[in-house]
Amino acid sequence: MTVSELRPSAISPTVDFSINGVQHGFLRLPYSRDDSAWGSVMIPVTVVKNGDGPTALLTGGNHGDEYEGPIALFDLARTLKAEDVAGRVIILPAMNYPAFVSGTRTSPIDKGNMNRSFPGRPDGTVTQKIADYFQRELLPLADIVLDFHSGGKTLDFLPFCAAHILPDKEQEARSFELVDAFCAPYSMKMLEIDAVGMYDSAAEEMGKIFITTELGGGGTATAKSAGIAKQGVANVLRKAGILKGEDRPTAGRTQWLDMPDGNCFSFAEEGGLIEPLVDMGEGVVADQVVARIHPIGKTGAAPTDVCAKMDGILCARHFPGLVKAGDCVAVVAVAV
Ligand SMILES: [Zn+2]
Repeated sequence: MTVSELRPSAISPTVDFSINGVQHGFLRLPYSRDDSAWGSVMIPVTVVKNGDGPTALLTGGNHGDEYEGPIALFDLARTLKAEDVAGRVIILPAMNYPAFVSGTRTSPIDKGNMNRSFPGRPDGTVTQKIADYFQRELLPLADIVLDFHSGGKTLDFLPFCAAHILPDKEQEARSFELVDAFCAPYSMKMLEIDAVGMYDSAAEEMGKIFITTELGGGGTATAKSAGIAKQGVANVLRKAGILKGEDRPTAGRTQWLDMPDGNCFSFAEEGGLIEPLVDMGEGVVADQVVARIHPIGKTGAAPTDVCAKMDGILCARHFPGLVKAGDCVAVVAVAV
């Protein structure tokens, strides 16, 4: 089936994306259920438009347990004035709203992982319907797309803004330029474990300038990580010429990192109690033991070593104290 043969989206926005001014409203998605026969999922959205100019599409809560993006974007939606803007800013602080409300990575309604649901379906589950609306209605409006992520409850990251290596080198260069402008403490040339169904890929395949972040994790935010998110989004909007005002010089330079191949990732081969031997941001060398997994069913058994597969710095790690076989334990990136 081609896109044009698909039925219209069930989502109706309560805002008009084409008019000037500040509008706060919702994407209303009908969702009939036991406690509300004719009920809806109401996804908060703000549109700030002032004349002609580029459009920035800003999203948080793609995963429901990642908080820096929602903090920065609820704040921006509340404070951004039309006269500060040249062009348009579309803000959705909680893209997968049901997941955000339940504080879980995936939706409690259908277990949908928003970032594995693209291009979505207009006749699919709630999560697929939201993805379809972004795919067919919101992404086409955008010139630049910033999608905030963090580690959620199960991962922790060094704070970085990121873009991907792309086949179109001009698109790639413009994306990395915007990552540099975000000016998080670290900037990443990011490799995905599994890019199928990602919002990132959907935006990139449409030719959009797409950047993302990983700004911490553990299912919470810190004063520092929230501050990085708020400053970063303002830096990006200024660089894109959408937020008026001087391109503010950033205090410190960002440290660029690269994830050159799949050797970045180390996975647990059995479950147990994890003992970190290296902390985030510290240097490692290939074959160095970065963590040990202690068996928890009995005493006297030897732990299993988890090794780095390349030289670099530890940029992400498993967060909870217990791991299962298959969990990502550590991620190493190379300083550029
Ligand atoms: Zn995420």
